[in-house]
Amino acid sequence: MKRRDFIKFSAIGLGATTIPVFASGGHGEVVASSGELQAVAKKMYTEIINNNDFYAKQKGDGFFKNFTISQSPRATIVGCSDSRFQESVLDSTPENDLFVIRNIGNQYTSNEGSVGYGVMHLHTPLLIIVGHTRCGAIKAALSDYTSEDSPIRKEVDTLSLSIRKAHLVGDNIEQWAAAVEANVNQQVEYCLSKFSEQVKSGQLTIVGVIYDLANDLSKGAGKIHTVNINGETNKKTLENHPLIK
Ligand SMILES: [Zn+2]
Repeated sequence: MKRRDFIKFSAIGLGATTIPVFASGGHGEVVASSGELQAVAKKMYTEIINNNDFYAKQKGDGFFKNFTISQSPRATIVGCSDSRFQESVLDSTPENDLFVIRNIGNQYTSNEGSVGYGVMHLHTPLLIIVGHTRCGAIKAALSDYTSEDSPIRKEVDTLSLSIRKAHLVGDNIEQWAAAVEANVNQQVEYCLSKFSEQVKSGQLTIVGVIYDLANDLSKGAGKIHTVNINGETNKKTLENHPLIK
């Protein structure tokens, strides 16, 4: 039995505090007792230990020897922490391949150091900003989030300024998806301005994508959509971009 079978909880899983603006499921209600939560924690941690046992055995020592000394990832990823997005969406074997930074709303600003490490020290040729449909952080940015804790407010503040000027009417899916895209574009802009030299010299390509977990973009649930390459956002031009063609 999974946790959601008997607990209603805020969608970004920030513990027992109810945070309605983040609750993409619309419940925003915690009904579990502490005993039930401890039972869930125990069950989950047992699953984690068992999964890890299986993983280590299945891979074997040889697998890890390939990258024990150092890492050599091909892409730096800035994605949302949302549990519905995982690296397996992009890469079925992400070990030593993806250098991943995740936070609420896939922001650059609050993790500049980590992103810079991927680009300037590990020299990944790709930097990918991954937004996703039904993103709770974007919904928060479109709402009144002044009652949130200050560290949360600080991170939501770094999301696209233009989307914060708008107001989400109910769960307007189109508007929500457009705001996700606006934020991806904004984060790409921040990165372009920071890594302009690397992009200009061809050492780095910065890509913005949207992972559509809900088929809001009508090309199938689970698909990623390229919306920005080095600042180019025209859909036709992107289709013929050498990175994709
Ligand atoms: Zn999100």
